[in-house]
Amino acid sequence: MFEARGLMVFYENMLALNNVSVACGADQIIGVFGANSAGKSTLMYTLSGIMLDIQKKEEMAGGERITMRGEIIYNGRDMMRLKPSERAKAGIVLCPERRRIFPESTVLENLMIGAYLADSRRTAQTLEYVFTIFAPLKRLSKRLGGFLSGGEQQMLAIGRALMAQPKQLLLDEPLLGLSPVVQYLLVKSIKEIRDQRNTAIIVSEQYARPVMPIIDYGYILENGASVVAGTNRELMDNPDVRSAYFGS
Ligand code: ATP
Repeated sequence: MFEARGLMVFYENMLALNNVSVACGADQIIGVFGANSAGKSTLMYTLSGIMLDIQKKEEMAGGERITMRGEIIYNGRDMMRLKPSERAKAGIVLCPERRRIFPESTVLENLMIGAYLADSRRTAQTLEYVFTIFAPLKRLSKRLGGFLSGGEQQMLAIGRALMAQPKQLLLDEPLLGLSPVVQYLLVKSIKEIRDQRNTAIIVSEQYARPVMPIIDYGYILENGASVVAGTNRELMDNPDVRSAYFGS
């Protein structure tokens, strides 16, 4: 069980996360939905520990003061002060928004970068799995990341995260900018990853509709606060949620 309780994040005096609690069971897919600037990336950075790096960088540059409060517990262990690499070793792996692949490295090189902290005895088998679930990557393995389509880049970004052998995968807006057909295929793959790899997943999205069918539970973020939560049925039956996040 991965659980965050009462997370508060301030960028200087601006409250970006306001008392947010989320939980993800070991076999669950959890959705986090919210408009631009609702706090989705801030939440993902906080859960993965990247926020500690951002905080340090800002401090060294004499920039804004970032403050974090609350608890992050993974299988009974306190994660809040652990570095991102330590969280990744514990199984918590972020696939960041806008892919952030290395455009001048090949597909295979990008994937191997993801394997860097993982158990090397399982690298070959994990790579084979990535090439099974995202078959186009195998054919494109020598192509430079920058020459892939948006959908292929997203497959590569998720594939790279899988190479770290996650137990708790965090996907920040994986469908951003992709066509409905590619979105549909990716959503199917996300569910397969949970089912076939026993990987729990928290996925954030601006629009709820494409991922709604595969989530077990979801949270709606507005201005940094979790305003509604429920199963996919409960969220879809909520008229406010429907009009704001389903466009109907
Ligand atoms: P998007 O869909 O645009 O990525 P989001 O839901 O991921 O949005 P965040 O990126 O988490 O939202 O941003 C939440 C709020 O915090 C926004 O108002 C944003 O402008 C602000 N914010 C994010 N990063 C910083 C930062 N480094 N310094 C100051 N404010 C920030």
